[in-house]
Amino acid sequence: MTTPVPSTARPLADRHLLGPGPCNPYPEATLALAAPLLGHLDPEFLAIMDETCDLLRLAWGTDNRRTLPLSATGSAGMEAAFVNLVHPGDVVVVAVNGLFGQRMCDVAARHGAEVVPVDHEWGQPVDVERVVSAHPSPKIIAAVHAETSTGVRSDVAALGAAKGDALLLVDAVTSIGGIELRADAWGIDVGYAGTQKCLGVAPGLAPFTINDRAFERRVERPSSWYLDLGLLGGYVGEASGAGQRTYHHTAPTAMVASLHAALQRIAAEGLENVWARHAEAGQLLQDGLEEIGLELFAAKGHRLPELTTVRVPDGVDSADVRRYLLEKHDIEIGAGAGQYASTVWRIGLMGHNARRDRVALVITALEDALA
Ligand code: PLP
Repeated sequence: MTTPVPSTARPLADRHLLGPGPCNPYPEATLALAAPLLGHLDPEFLAIMDETCDLLRLAWGTDNRRTLPLSATGSAGMEAAFVNLVHPGDVVVVAVNGLFGQRMCDVAARHGAEVVPVDHEWGQPVDVERVVSAHPSPKIIAAVHAETSTGVRSDVAALGAAKGDALLLVDAVTSIGGIELRADAWGIDVGYAGTQKCLGVAPGLAPFTINDRAFERRVERPSSWYLDLGLLGGYVGEASGAGQRTYHHTAPTAMVASLHAALQRIAAEGLENVWARHAEAGQLLQDGLEEIGLELFAAKGHRLPELTTVRVPDGVDSADVRRYLLEKHDIEIGAGAGQYASTVWRIGLMGHNARRDRVALVITALEDALA
């Protein structure tokens, strides 16, 4: 009989995660995962949770007291937003300019919404005029701030200014911690995000925020127990005050500590400096890709610095190049999404990877792969 070799006997690959996420975490976030585990009701952990919610308010640009890390990935944030806000038959207008707008339509419909999708060409930003005139009185207008499938930024502030009585629901998974995001000033009523992109943490939590206006219009008893925002208030001590908690579910304490460490690091660097670092790295990458003869995909003037989409040159096999980058350079970049799966690459410079040396690394490796 042969003895099975435990997988821990060989070291895991140490990759440069330069795709659409996850990215390489901030070192502080990784270190926090190695700290002794705290119980979920330990006073030390409760203090970390309180500070995490405060720091999330900073990252969101909000004073919303209901701002918390949901214990699941970004898609659970999307699910939480719709399951708590959609009453059967509510009209939800969704701006669709990529994969995640499409997913919003699916999720909203599953929760009983009458979905009014406003389709856009992929690679283009959301057309605010078309979206706000799609229905006379929607309950919700939903849009993706940073479409990870196409590398496009949309003007959420303009949507907020034009939303009328509707609630504005925004996906900030790829924007939070990377580009300007001002939930209160822009009129975002409910927003969800993820940890594995520009916040520079492993995947696993969904930073979430909802204002009083949206909370008052919520479903009293949503069909999801786990994502019921009414119950989750007690989990983060919102109703009873900081330090007072009711048990709802076991907080993923290591992940919250990791997010806390990354947010502290972002706050120490200064949120606007972090945005500027992403802007600089993204511009350098986009200029560099054009210099080596590649064509960018997203519409000029609306490109995300943290996620660049580039057309695969004619005659080049997209998957071969990605495999070569992984095997020879330990670099992961992403394939395109949807109908662009084999004709577009997605290169991310998020969080800790939004740095000049990563730009040089990926451009040199791509030149090698295409030689
Ligand atoms: N929304 C956007 C814009 C995303 O990029 C992603 C993930 O890439 C999601 C939602 C879903 O998040 P998750 O994969 O963490 O569930």
